Amino acid sequence: MNTVDTGPAVPGAPAAISVTGLFKSYGPIKALDGANLEVPEGMVYGLVGPNGSGKSTLIKAICGILKPDAGSVSVLGMDAARERFAVRRQLGYMPQTSSLYEDLSPEENLRFFDGAHEQPGSRERIRETLKLVQLWDRRNDPLHTFSGGMRQRASLACALLHDPRLLVLDEPTAGVDPTLRQDFWQHFHDLCQRGRTIFLSTNQMDEAMRCHRVAVIMGGGILIAEAPQAIRDRGTTTVTLELADGPRTFELSDYPVELPRLLSRFGLQPDVRRISVQQQSLEDVILDMIAGEE
Ligand code: ADP
Ligand code: MG
Repeated sequence: MNTVDTGPAVPGAPAAISVTGLFKSYGPIKALDGANLEVPEGMVYGLVGPNGSGKSTLIKAICGILKPDAGSVSVLGMDAARERFAVRRQLGYMPQTSSLYEDLSPEENLRFFDGAHEQPGSRERIRETLKLVQLWDRRNDPLHTFSGGMRQRASLACALLHDPRLLVLDEPTAGVDPTLRQDFWQHFHDLCQRGRTIFLSTNQMDEAMRCHRVAVIMGGGILIAEAPQAIRDRGTTTVTLELADGPRTFELSDYPVELPRLLSRFGLQPDVRRISVQQQSLEDVILDMIAGEE
């Protein structure tokens, strides 16, 4: 599989996550097939791919929970497997399937989790985190009485509790309603503003557009890792010029380069009455890429 790695946005910027030649098989299934990835610090970085493409496997390897067959993962300059306890102190992980205790309330879960991090329990921090995810009012209710979105919030609270430098979130907004999704995203960008790095998986393309950079995973390999708009620019753009003698349509495959050429060809001729530019959506471009690999 062709793997692309575009490297950090700022040359020399430290990498929060660096994955090199990662392989993991389950019998005949290649969950990871030579994945390479570089996540610079200070970004909201999205991992996008269909179900079964290897997102969770890659995330578990990054969090040191899963041992790959080959390859290496470095997180905040440490080896994800060998130094996983040191890594976990600076990393907040939200698994795809909640690992919280259903019989405990969010507050009890957080207290338990805080203990697991070997940090003295801080009532203040727990209170702030529960307020942040808007569960303070429900802090004493057992989790099994919660809706899907509330569980996601409780799970996110666990990942946020020790204010980690790096957040690794596996489909954090799955099953979350649009309003709450908006809140989550606002929060991710706020954290990013405060210098945190957020690495999250999603299969929602509108979310991919909100990331600074997106890696598309398919068959356990990274197809492309670029800014979402740059990925979109690789798709087709349909430009229609309405001329005095009727409309003419042009299909551009490299929009940023070809559009200025097209426009300069027609200049500012008075018979160009209207220009309409329709760029393929990020979703369509990514789906075309994935289909090309199948
Ligand atoms: P995603 O998170 O993108 O949906 P996963 O990383 O969970 O994908 O899975 C990638 C592939 O590896 C899938 O084909 C999945 O069935 C397989 N897989 C993942 N974990 C296991 C496991 N513990 N045992 C067997 N197969 C697994
Ligand atoms: Mg998954």
